[in-house]
Amino acid sequence: MPDKERTKYQLDEKDIPTKWYNIQADLKTPLPPVLHPGTGQPIGPQDLAPLFPMELIKQEVSQERWIEIPEEVRDVFRLWRPTPLYRARRLEKALGTPARIYYKYEGVSPAGSHKPNTAVAQAYYNKKQGVTRLSTETGAGQWGSALAMACAFFGLQCKVYMVKVSYHQKPYRRVLMETWGAQVVPSPSPDTQAGKKILEQDPNSPGSLGIAISEAVEDAATREDTKYSLGSVLNHVLMHQTIVGLETKKQLDKADDEADILVGCIGGGSNFSGFSFPFVADKLTGKKKKLRVIAVEPTACPSLTKGKYAYDFGDTVGLTPLVKMHTLGHTFVPPPVHAGGLRYHGMAALVCKLYDDGMIEAVAVPQVATFQAAIQFARAEGIIPAPESAHAIRVVIDEALRCKKEGKRQAIVFNLSGHGHFDLGAYEAHLAGKLQDYEYPAEKVAEALTHLPKVKG
Ligand SMILES: *Cc1c(COP(=O)(O)O)cnc(C)c1O
Repeated sequence: MPDKERTKYQLDEKDIPTKWYNIQADLKTPLPPVLHPGTGQPIGPQDLAPLFPMELIKQEVSQERWIEIPEEVRDVFRLWRPTPLYRARRLEKALGTPARIYYKYEGVSPAGSHKPNTAVAQAYYNKKQGVTRLSTETGAGQWGSALAMACAFFGLQCKVYMVKVSYHQKPYRRVLMETWGAQVVPSPSPDTQAGKKILEQDPNSPGSLGIAISEAVEDAATREDTKYSLGSVLNHVLMHQTIVGLETKKQLDKADDEADILVGCIGGGSNFSGFSFPFVADKLTGKKKKLRVIAVEPTACPSLTKGKYAYDFGDTVGLTPLVKMHTLGHTFVPPPVHAGGLRYHGMAALVCKLYDDGMIEAVAVPQVATFQAAIQFARAEGIIPAPESAHAIRVVIDEALRCKKEGKRQAIVFNLSGHGHFDLGAYEAHLAGKLQDYEYPAEKVAEALTHLPKVKG
């Protein structure tokens, strides 16, 4: 029963999806193989077994279109799912646009973002395999807090390597993790060989996601009781997030509407993919060829728009397998002036492949315009978006204004991946006029790319 006039489209607990959508089943050509960093040969499940439980390794390479969500996982989801889809009527009015703007809001999870969607699933599969401890990295702390909460639900220990600048700039995210029972250390840390090596070269290293990944991977690889957990980038993580897009589809049906444009921000690609892949499925099968799907990144970390599509390491030290992805080089350290998150040097292989295949678009936006969009959104809709999500909002507003100019009544749907309640420092800097734009220089990309690992063929 369509009900067009609403502001919020809610679903019932029974509408929480029972299966994840695996886009690998619908790709015309398969993903390029993941390579062993030593041999350069494609890796097999056994190579990943020290790091991940077998169930997740199977999901990583599965070609099944639908994968059953365990009842124990759905049971935890009931705490905050299904999440609402809003019609941004007040923003539309403020912009004077004929476009219809909708947003799926993932900030209602206890950790404040979409990340618990995969954290809960990962904690569950690890627990089921008898793992007792998980290691991970976190940048701003959103992933670390999601995993800390998930580990609390399933009685697992959790160690988080937190990028050092964030550790000092965002104490409240750390306290959140500690409240949920995790141990948090600033990265680079003296707790690992990788961390020690970086600290020897530069005792004042601000850290980076790539460095923190090296530490968390080493932690898991060197301990029997521990596996590693990653909050984005990997195929299974993106798949876990597809509940976001599957719910959105149902909610748009309720609104009796169809998306013309989908927008999401990209750091490693998980919220964008989870939100858009169930729709991209219709593009891949030719059912909805005209749908535009836009991934938005910061000009300070432009992996898709300026990076090279090449094999690279997932971390800085070079411990991970080689993945073909759009990369700024694994030695990338984000510019300190950048406040908006989305700082990873690479990008999910699936996002890169779809971009390379021309299925999705990518745009890079500068940070001052991004925060301006966030503030315009907050003043119209109330919700203070995570700076990451604000990148998507910038493009949504630009598209809505284009619709106004062209007199087009398009439906623009975006993923509001989280709230910004722990990012008020960045808002404060913006309001005080202290943020500046930064375009990552082409020369720096070119230099970093000279360090790409050599791969045959
Ligand atoms: C982590 C995070 C992102 C970026 O990660 P993706 O894997 O690209 O989604 C975006 N928004 C929020 C709120 C986040 O916490």
